[in-house]
Amino acid sequence: MKRLIGKMKVVDFDLVVSLLAGAVSVRDKLMKKRKRAVVRNINLIVIHCTATGDYPLGHLYFDRIGAKQIRQSHMASLESGGRNFDDIGYHFVVRRTGLLERGRPESVQGAHCYGSNEKSLGIAYVGTMKPTDGQIETMRLLLRDLMQKYHLTKDQIKPHCELNPHKLCPGFDIYKTLLWDFK
Ligand SMILES: [Zn+2]
Repeated sequence: MKRLIGKMKVVDFDLVVSLLAGAVSVRDKLMKKRKRAVVRNINLIVIHCTATGDYPLGHLYFDRIGAKQIRQSHMASLESGGRNFDDIGYHFVVRRTGLLERGRPESVQGAHCYGSNEKSLGIAYVGTMKPTDGQIETMRLLLRDLMQKYHLTKDQIKPHCELNPHKLCPGFDIYKTLLWDFK
């Protein structure tokens, strides 16, 4: 490098070539990374429940249910009662404590709402009929965040049961509980 800067007359062509090649490969890598980071065209958020019961906080077993356990059950074989998925079906999981966990990357299509997976994100709260205060707070914050990120309106947030009417999921009214003051 010193040779290149200090004595331009003595140009080391091999060095120049390798520097240029390096710059090209860095640029290629960045382009690829950017391409990978391109977000899917998201036009819908679907709210789910895990149907694991509405246990109060402090329950030794149920407080532990989170993305890891759901991922295991979604990836388990059909014979063992699983879903045989490649990964957890949801993009986000909200534990009973209100802790938010990531599931499938947002850039990857989920497996949570038959017929509506391609352009959606799936959020599951651990519970059945009644989210905890912590879960409500976390879901509201998450929804506001995602609405801003993907330029979505309140009308683009739906409960699973509205998209697949034979489902009872989630077991609470998202409009009254989560979206009551959303614009
Ligand atoms: Zn569901």
